[in-house]
Amino acid sequence: MTTGRVIKNYNGYYYVDIGAGQLVECRRRGKVKAKILVGDELEITELGGGKGVVEKQLPRRNSLRRPAVANIDQMFVIMAAQSPDPNQFLVDKLLMTCEYGGVHPKLCFNKCDLDRETAEAYKAFYETCGYDVYLVSAVTGEGLDAIKALLPHKMTVFAGPSGVGKSSLLSQILGRDLSVGSVSEKIKRGRHTTRHSEIMQLEGDTYVIDTPGFSSLEFEHLDKGEVFALFPDMTPYGGHCRFSSCLHLSEPDCPVKDAVAEGKIQKERYETYCKIVNSILERNR
Ligand code: GDP
Ligand code: ZN
Repeated sequence: MTTGRVIKNYNGYYYVDIGAGQLVECRRRGKVKAKILVGDELEITELGGGKGVVEKQLPRRNSLRRPAVANIDQMFVIMAAQSPDPNQFLVDKLLMTCEYGGVHPKLCFNKCDLDRETAEAYKAFYETCGYDVYLVSAVTGEGLDAIKALLPHKMTVFAGPSGVGKSSLLSQILGRDLSVGSVSEKIKRGRHTTRHSEIMQLEGDTYVIDTPGFSSLEFEHLDKGEVFALFPDMTPYGGHCRFSSCLHLSEPDCPVKDAVAEGKIQKERYETYCKIVNSILERNR
């Protein structure tokens, strides 16, 4: 039995990287029922000639719905310092979308050449909240080395709303035009389109996934009790409220609200939390 990682699925075939630059084109057997995602680790039987069958899907560490990717090692949420202007509610929602999939992302502000002050303010704010923040510019090249240094031996997802300069940034970071050398080209099927997530093998076990037009989950569909867990800066203060069902809104004896009052939780983050929970309560009314 061989194990490997799915780097593309196409037309019912799974392309499994089994190491040493070998890609095996696998079909699934009937007994493997679960949906298989890019990033999934599989046990396969090789049939020779670069072909194989999927025997088993191994447990996932995390997964996102859009992009549909599993076992992400790290993720960058890319925003721009200006045009489009960042806004905290959007950043919070994108971070929550990652946390919902079990991924604690890093933040990256591009176009720092346009508005350093705004970028620095966001950096300070989100670092206080426990997120790593990188300031970069695809135009001047500043900050790119720090990102490059984090990539080896990992599967990294880059996601961001359109217009933030993600394509420009990735071309710089990867040192190549994004349409060249992609896995889909290697497999000789299809061409790069900016509408699909694309996994690129930089070398060996270093992969980058480009996710165009990343947008946040519709949190209105979550249960009201699920939201709190998506704020890693707030969760340490949970679990000691007077009511075990406390939503940390207007209930008495709530250490979460105390932490907000004492400045241990950023007020603006708590406001995002309240806004989301209230929109869920509103929907259920
Ligand atoms: P994407 O939609 O996120 O892939 O964005 P693009 O890479 O297509 O870039 C959108 C626009 O922003 C283009 O006009 C780029 O030239 C510009 N842009 C990208 N990165 C930077 C940057 O770091 N600084 C400045 N000033 N402009 C940038
Ligand atoms: Zn509470």
